Amino acid sequence: MMDTNAQRQLVGLGLGANLGDPETALKEALRRIQSLPGTQIEVISPTYWTPPWSVNEPQPDYLNAACLISTQLNPNDLLVALQVIEHALGRVRGPEQYAARTLDLDILFFGEQRIDEANLEVPHPRLAERGFVLLPLADIAPNLEIPGLDRVDYLLEALDEEALDGIRPAKIDLSL
Ligand code: AMP
Repeated sequence: MMDTNAQRQLVGLGLGANLGDPETALKEALRRIQSLPGTQIEVISPTYWTPPWSVNEPQPDYLNAACLISTQLNPNDLLVALQVIEHALGRVRGPEQYAARTLDLDILFFGEQRIDEANLEVPHPRLAERGFVLLPLADIAPNLEIPGLDRVDYLLEALDEEALDGIRPAKIDLSL
C-alpha cells in the first residue's frame, strides 16, 4: 500500500520483451508504471537488442532497457503492480488465438534496501551477471552503488565478455 508519509525511494527496474511488438509492449509498460500511485519515472535508458539465452527453440531477440523510478510504494506492492502489468501486456490476440508474448519487469534495486524473501530478492540476484541489465543501467546511473555489490560502472567492467555477446544498441526511443 502507498504510505503518503513514506519517503520516496529511488528504484531501478529492468524491462525486456521479445514477442509480438516489443517496442509497443515496453512503451505501454512504462506508461502504466508512470501511472502507478505515488510513482514517477525519473529516467529511461537507451534500448538494446539481446539474443535470447535459452536456445532450445528459436526465439526472437529481446528488446531490453532499464529505468529509474521514484516511488512511495513498498517493495512488495511494487512487485505485485509490476506483475499485474506483465500479465496484462503479456498476451496478445493473434489471428486465431492468444499467443504468448514475453514481458519481463524486474526490480533491480530498491533504494538502499536488501530483501531476501521467497518471492522477492533485492538487489536482483542476477543483476551482476547480466549484460542486458548492466549496459542500460550504466547508461543512466553509472555511479550508482548497488547495495552489497559495487558501482554499476564497475560491475559492467567486471562482466565476462560473453555476457555481452551479441548485445547491440536498438536505437528505439522509449521516452514517454
Ligand atoms: P521471472 O519469470 O524470471 O521474471 O521471475 C518472476 C519471479 O521472480 C516472480 O515470482 C517474483 O516473485 C520473483 N522475483 C524475485 N526477486 C525479484 C525481483 N527483484 N524482481 C522481480 N521478480 C522477482
